[in-house]
Amino acid sequence: MVAEWNRALLRLRETVGERNFTTWIEPIHCTQDAMGLRLEVASRFILDWVTNNFLESIRAALAELGNESPLRMVVGNGGLSEMSRLLPPTRPAPPLAKPRKPQIGHSVPDYTFDSFVVGATNVRTYRAIQSIADAPGRRFNPLFVWGGVGLGKTHLVHALANELLRRARRLRVGCISAESFMNSLIGSLKQDHMAAFRDRFRVLDTLILDDVQFLAGKERTQEEFFHTFNALYEAGKQVVLTSDKPPHAISQLEQRLRSRFEGGLIADILPPTPEMRLAILSKKAALHGTQLDDETAAVIAERSGPSVRELEGALNRVVAVSELESVALTPDLASNVLGCFLPIHQAISVEEIQKHVSAYFGLALSDLTSHSRERHLVLPRQIAMYLCRTVADASFPAIAGKFGGRDHSTVMHAVKVVEDKRTQDAASDQLLKLLERGVRSPARARKSPAPSVAKVS
Ligand code: ADP
Ligand code: MG
Repeated sequence: MVAEWNRALLRLRETVGERNFTTWIEPIHCTQDAMGLRLEVASRFILDWVTNNFLESIRAALAELGNESPLRMVVGNGGLSEMSRLLPPTRPAPPLAKPRKPQIGHSVPDYTFDSFVVGATNVRTYRAIQSIADAPGRRFNPLFVWGGVGLGKTHLVHALANELLRRARRLRVGCISAESFMNSLIGSLKQDHMAAFRDRFRVLDTLILDDVQFLAGKERTQEEFFHTFNALYEAGKQVVLTSDKPPHAISQLEQRLRSRFEGGLIADILPPTPEMRLAILSKKAALHGTQLDDETAAVIAERSGPSVRELEGALNRVVAVSELESVALTPDLASNVLGCFLPIHQAISVEEIQKHVSAYFGLALSDLTSHSRERHLVLPRQIAMYLCRTVADASFPAIAGKFGGRDHSTVMHAVKVVEDKRTQDAASDQLLKLLERGVRSPARARKSPAPSVAKVS
């Protein structure tokens, strides 16, 4: 992936809106070659749609970064052949309507408590956020929410911001990503407006800082945030933080900040259970004004990655094709649009399983293979060992060797624990099925477009 494309994505997410971003922009695979930037999408239909609707925004985002390379869009076909199209130059994108804003930053209006599906993997965090909405600054201060990418952290904290603004319009709410906090700080430093910067943050009643893992290694920003945090905290104001990992796992984070983050409630969000995935699909479909039958929902749930973001992107693509082509929303349509999981015949390695499981639980690979007995590491590690045995068919000593050189009896014990859990508890069984499907159908299989996609375009 081209670094500049990654930076353009950050900008595009703001300009095209969250929903368009997940549906159309994020799945684009960008590479660079002698002819310029090559943007690959999964079907002819998507190519037309992106070209007609987002090309101008894509150009504008790249131009802002100083990249004026020629662009071309192609439909990927598993590398066998490609249909490509030279893109004509276009006019700049029209300005977008501004959403209703908190005092600092912004919140996505569609991210509400109503549109959030609650289940076993997020209920604790959901309740904590609700009680903050009832009485900010009273309990759970700060609240630190962590979990893997695309699992609903931003949705939940924006829902909090929206709810606070709705209930008490005079409440001053800041809802900003750690990255924007840093950019704003840099701007203020350059222009010598530090006093104004501090005042702006210190009058807030609630501050939500999204993606604090971004602060890693940013010393000056950490220092400033430390003071902002203290000022708010001491005045009894609410602080809510989100991160893709727990505080202790954020490297290059000053100890004093880490201990502040750990001083309140730490709540995690895990990937949704299969049941929740179906509920999310049905809720999101209803938001589109569409009904989704069980069979079609099952196909979509099966053919998208573990995060809600991927699940939602898959649904949006299927619904868009159904609406725009006036064809019924059926299991067949879903498989045509989303493509097939290719059966994987290659052996699956222990390393692949370790990678998948650690990504799934939002852990560092080194934590998964470490000897640490911390509670949040033990079960994911046992599950990984179990999958290495059952899916990768690795021997006990081989697995023991790849998990930091343990005794092989530890692995035998882990496998037994997970087997027991699986037979005793339906939720564990579902979780394991999801993980098994995940390790058996890695990204390379997901990326291949459906051979029959031409039918719908
Ligand atoms: P994160 O901030 O954890 O990376 P987001 O909050 O951006 O994830 O969520 C990604 C997408 O998934 C959003 O569109 C969000 O609405 C949706 N989403 C995540 N969890 C849920 C849920 N439990 N119910 C409904 N939608 C969800
Ligand atoms: Mg987020």
